[in-house]
Amino acid sequence: MKNKMQAAVVARFGEPLLFEEWDIPVPGPGQVLVRTEACGVCHTDVHAWRGDWPLKPVLPFIPGHEGIGLVVAMGPGVTSVKEGDRVGVPWLYSACGHCEYCLSAWETVCAEAQFGGYTRHGGFAEYILANPDYVARIPAGLIAAEAAPIICAGVTTYKGIKETGAKPGQWIAISGIGGLGHLAIQYAAAMGLYVCAIDPDNAKLAHARRLGASLTINAADRDAVEQVRRGTGGGAHGVLITAPSLVAFKQGVAMTRKLGTCVLVGLPPGEFPTPLFDVVANCITIRGSFVGTRQDMAEALAFAAAGRVKAEIERQPLSAINDVLTRLEQGKVASRVVIDFAGM
Ligand code: NAD
Ligand code: ZN
Ligand code: ZN
Repeated sequence: MKNKMQAAVVARFGEPLLFEEWDIPVPGPGQVLVRTEACGVCHTDVHAWRGDWPLKPVLPFIPGHEGIGLVVAMGPGVTSVKEGDRVGVPWLYSACGHCEYCLSAWETVCAEAQFGGYTRHGGFAEYILANPDYVARIPAGLIAAEAAPIICAGVTTYKGIKETGAKPGQWIAISGIGGLGHLAIQYAAAMGLYVCAIDPDNAKLAHARRLGASLTINAADRDAVEQVRRGTGGGAHGVLITAPSLVAFKQGVAMTRKLGTCVLVGLPPGEFPTPLFDVVANCITIRGSFVGTRQDMAEALAFAAAGRVKAEIERQPLSAINDVLTRLEQGKVASRVVIDFAGM
């Protein structure tokens, strides 16, 4: 095996990623080495590259948390995976395993959690070190490039939909029909919900209808909230906001039906105003949701393996990563770009 790998590296926030040769990491005790086959590009990679959030990655770092590949080497003591297994290295890279959150299956909020492509090097490289207790098991029959978006965009929206509490036959409003949203529509439809899709881009709304949305509303319409409230007979029972835009959060709360739940998933930096009287008087729940647990991951992947949900992907080589991040920031990616390492 060679000992150098190609990696796309953030050396300074907001500056183009550098293409560098790094040593292929050697797995230590309790670690595995994964040879990357494919890695999706999430809007979170844009926030990481820009240094948007209060907790910033240490420079230099390799982004990417939708990496899928084969286990090619194992450190001492690893028994839970074996060489040749196809795994995903997700955002939830590891957690402590013994705090109150880990013990109650909320490892996603563990204070010691590490994040793939953020506090640990990620999948924009030919090899990734991973923790075998937290890798995603990719079901047979799911190809790497189509599995990639499921391990962040898929699990995040599947979990977020569950967190809305919306039941079959009820309405869910999904704001932001990009990488996350195009999968959210499919999960929601598979879960028996009526979907109202909201985005400022008409092409994305047309796409949403093809994916199963019954109602589509342009977010830029002045009366977008009223249109959703009318179309859903008084507001959506569940609202899922994936848009990386603060305006969408204010709209999303206003689209929520009495007693409904608005789940916040998008992560634009900043704050948004909340109409306190309406939230209180209508008994609305506003809650955050952060990726999903390992069990959510297994369920989200099972939908994909069964063909109930299919990621729509545009393949690009690693050398295109700077262009892809810029397009993503400008809202110019149709669904999900996946970096394909097959040709490297
Ligand atoms: P994306 O760029 O693929 O899609 C965003 C979509 O939002 C685009 O279709 C865009 O047209 C649309 N949009 C922009 N402004 C809007 C508005 N005002 N109203 C409605 N739609 C609007 O991004 P993505 O990869 O789907 O990620 C979306 C956000 O979710 C990012 O902020 C990302 O960091 C966050 N995220 C959060 C989690 C989590 O665990 N909470 C996980 C993954 C991603
Ligand atoms: Zn992501
Ligand atoms: Zn913990």
